[in-house]
Amino acid sequence: PQSLVHVLRQHAESTPDAEAIVEVGGSRISYADLWRRASRVAGGLKEAGVTSGDRAAILTPAGNDWVVAFFGCLLAGAVAVPINTRFAEPEVQYVLDDSGARFVFRAGEPLPDGEPYLAPDPQLDTLAAIFYTSGTTGAPKGALTTHEGFLSNCENMIRGLSLPADVGADLRTLISVPLFHVTGCNSQLLVTIYTGGTSVILPALDLGVLLETIPYERINFLVTVPAVYQLLIGHPQFVDTDTSPVRWIGYGGAPIAPDLVHRIKAAFPQAVVANGFGMTESASLMTTLPDRYAAEHADSVGFVVPVDDIALHEPDPDTGVGELLVKGPNVTASYWNKPEQTAAAFLDGWLRTGDLARVDPSGLVYIVDRAKDLINRGGENVYSFEVENALAAAPGIGEVAVVGVPDEVMGEKVGAVVVPAPGSAEDPAAIVAYLQGKIADFKIPQYIQYRREPLPRNPGGKVVKPALRAELGDKEK
Ligand code: ATP
Ligand code: MG
Repeated sequence: PQSLVHVLRQHAESTPDAEAIVEVGGSRISYADLWRRASRVAGGLKEAGVTSGDRAAILTPAGNDWVVAFFGCLLAGAVAVPINTRFAEPEVQYVLDDSGARFVFRAGEPLPDGEPYLAPDPQLDTLAAIFYTSGTTGAPKGALTTHEGFLSNCENMIRGLSLPADVGADLRTLISVPLFHVTGCNSQLLVTIYTGGTSVILPALDLGVLLETIPYERINFLVTVPAVYQLLIGHPQFVDTDTSPVRWIGYGGAPIAPDLVHRIKAAFPQAVVANGFGMTESASLMTTLPDRYAAEHADSVGFVVPVDDIALHEPDPDTGVGELLVKGPNVTASYWNKPEQTAAAFLDGWLRTGDLARVDPSGLVYIVDRAKDLINRGGENVYSFEVENALAAAPGIGEVAVVGVPDEVMGEKVGAVVVPAPGSAEDPAAIVAYLQGKIADFKIPQYIQYRREPLPRNPGGKVVKPALRAELGDKEK
């Protein structure tokens, strides 16, 4: 196929009655229905004055209408701009202004249904969507995705998860992460539409409902972020849930502690698992770790996908760690409307990922930290992930994040913010004792802060470290 429009049309013709989308607590939509509804929305957009290349923002909650709006944009030749539904009004306004959206799909408003319309066929390099980055390290930036980027990610997912080529309509996924980010949209919804399977969408993350839905909808393909697997496996209902339909499991979008990888494998022994590392700028996947490596190399994000090239920028001669660079057909050509950030993000045609990595001789990639999260303690580099991973299996710890805390003498010291496991007491001395002998002394947190509320996370499950640093900085004063 040359675009997602071709993909959807083909399924609507060859398997019209197959279920495309199921909204938990809502209705079920077949492929023929999805095509029909999307063509009417395309007509509605046209009547509203949206023409080819115009941006249309999607601000509706995850569910059937979201998917219809998204394909309505593609059929109209418009550029879909999914927006974080948790944004406050000024943040929404920033994305609307930045993208120059001509139309906004809003919650509670009827979809703009007109006469069925289909714009001229898009090409591989036609701009299809602008996804905004998660804003973990600063203001969200618009990354461009072409139809080729979408299709390439579908192929990368199918290969990375070892989905059988003929899985077709048998693929049934449960979407519990936001559709406005690439993990939920590109690596779940669009992959499943690509094969002709069924996407079951949870409008809100409710672990009890998620667990009930697995056997009820015979879900065989799960993708979600590490934080959700952690909660799912630890949920009291998990042991009584029939999870036997699940055959393919993807995790990623945020760093995962090896301990959690082992627990996922133990919790779903019949499934193959795969770590997927990616970013908004690469329309999702850049590397995948196949199941046969998952146990032994749980700390790796795997091998680069065949369509991409990777390199390391200025690797450290001793550790081999450098900033990961990537290029390929799925990588954004620039940031929308941001010439300065674009200039800073590219190096001779390579995208700077902002992630520090090393690559072993077999090609396995290890993400060691975000460049912005690296802690410099008196000249010694401390990778926050390494300390977090070492602490993940410590007794009494529910959640942990490691950040640099400004220090007059050392420049920075290592700080840990710990949410105790239910029923566990605060015991910083025990944490220090646990780490001794596991990691070098200079990496052991010198500052441990307990916290009762869960860690601040964005909808992609990533800990918002700037917020934690600000909190710690205030407490230190
Ligand atoms: P912003 O760029 O706005 O600060 P962000 O980088 O969090 O936000 P995303 O594009 O959603 O926005 O996230 C991509 C980042 O997520 C990667 O650069 C990497 O740091 C992290 N990441 C994604 N997948 C994995 C993974 N499997 N393992 C470790 N880290 C991951
Ligand atoms: Mg980023």
